[in-house]
Amino acid sequence: MKYIYGPVRSRRLGVSLGISTVPAKVCSFNCVYCDVAKTTALTGERKEYVSADEILKELRKFLSTYNKHLDHITFSGFGEPTLNSKIGYMIAEIKEHTNIPVVVLTNSSLISRGDVKIDLLQADIVKFTLNAARTDYYKKINQSLDSIKVEDVIKGIINFRKMFTHELWIEIMLVKGVNDYESNYRSLHDALELIRADKVHINTVVREPSFGFAKSLNIEELILAKEIIGNGAELISLRREVHYHIQSQPLLQIHRNK
Ligand code: SF4
Repeated sequence: MKYIYGPVRSRRLGVSLGISTVPAKVCSFNCVYCDVAKTTALTGERKEYVSADEILKELRKFLSTYNKHLDHITFSGFGEPTLNSKIGYMIAEIKEHTNIPVVVLTNSSLISRGDVKIDLLQADIVKFTLNAARTDYYKKINQSLDSIKVEDVIKGIINFRKMFTHELWIEIMLVKGVNDYESNYRSLHDALELIRADKVHINTVVREPSFGFAKSLNIEELILAKEIIGNGAELISLRREVHYHIQSQPLLQIHRNK
């Protein structure tokens, strides 16, 4: 299989079959924490990087022989999935031929575009990454194209929320010394008040990052971030360690009680 991977078991999505719609490493970001690789083609151009019909053919082949349960089919992979201009067509085809819920994990960079909004409306869950709500931190962590403005991204998500009746999730990736500042947390808090996501997940670096300086936050720092960001944010990284510390340190009861 070239475009389909897994299924993998994920805490948030259960048993999930992945689809990559772009080759490595085509992306509109070059995130310091990316665990795929450094971006070699930094672009905001939407086109059919990989043939949608080839992807669907592979998917049909996989599903015809796979006889276990799948919780989700997830567009993610080796770069930004919405860069593939046929993602809407692929979601529609999957919805037409299976009952498996479709998820899109996007870096949010193209959500101010009308065509991207229309494509994503068909998904069952859209998870937007929003690592910062201020330009300085946004640029530092995402190393995005200059044409991508964080204000437009936030407005795009807010407008999409108004149209989208399914699950909208936000993921915030925190990297030590890059975007783990109170001023970032406060601006994220304000943006999230407007977005009104169904879930907010706070994550940190757990896999080997493409930039060696990208380090994770410790548990106390993550809990502080969660407290300031608010909006029902949950910590999803280091779950085992968080659980261990919660059991062993009454100080951290704060997390369990939220
Ligand atoms: S958006 Fe995703 S694929 Fe692109 S650089 Fe960031 S983490 Fe990697």
